[in-house]
Amino acid sequence: MSSKNSMNNSSDNSASSSSDLLRSALVDSLQDPTPGTGYAGLTPDVALHQAQLRAGEDLSRSFAFTTRLEAVVAWGRKNALWPLPYGTACCGIELMSVMGPRYDLARFGAEVVRFSPRQADLLIVAGTITEKMGPVLVQIYQQMLDPKYVLSMGACASSGGFYRAYHVLQGADKVIPVDVYVPGCPPTPEAVLDGLMVLQKMIANNQPRPWKENWKSPYDKA
Ligand code: SF4
Repeated sequence: MSSKNSMNNSSDNSASSSSDLLRSALVDSLQDPTPGTGYAGLTPDVALHQAQLRAGEDLSRSFAFTTRLEAVVAWGRKNALWPLPYGTACCGIELMSVMGPRYDLARFGAEVVRFSPRQADLLIVAGTITEKMGPVLVQIYQQMLDPKYVLSMGACASSGGFYRAYHVLQGADKVIPVDVYVPGCPPTPEAVLDGLMVLQKMIANNQPRPWKENWKSPYDKA
């Protein structure tokens, strides 16, 4: 009971102090001789309303929003990924449906598909990678903008899939650093969206990526 009373008292106090503030603002402005700044000629109700609006504007000017610069940058980065689809097989077709209106990757800010590595920061490897394609994949990865991310879509891109053969790379991570693996043959569009959200969380948390920091091209001559 006593705490309720004290709450009522404190809200009464704040209400009376804000109305005092408005009243004094009104009196001040009625006495303001500068043309256009006072409320002369207005009825008291209108003048009070104008004073309330002005007090509200003053409050909005004093409002401050604080955050960390890295958090704002990460927020923008995670919601504006530009993917480069490296589609080589059936998973590439499945990726098209992720981009289409039914699943609509645009909801995650990643619909600006680019076929130039210099305009992309998310490489989606979707399909079987042969040994011959390895150097091409590395070159594309190297030409992409930093910070860059790699999503491996499907069994073939992640592990070679059922192609346990001499000519198929047993996973894109044999040649480039992969951030997220999406399982399936092919993965469902929902699974790809889930993989993208995992990547967004990594970006938002500024998660360390030692697999990327320590990466060296396997094709560089020592
Ligand atoms: S994982 Fe399956 S669907 Fe995807 S490229 Fe390989 S064989 Fe095709």
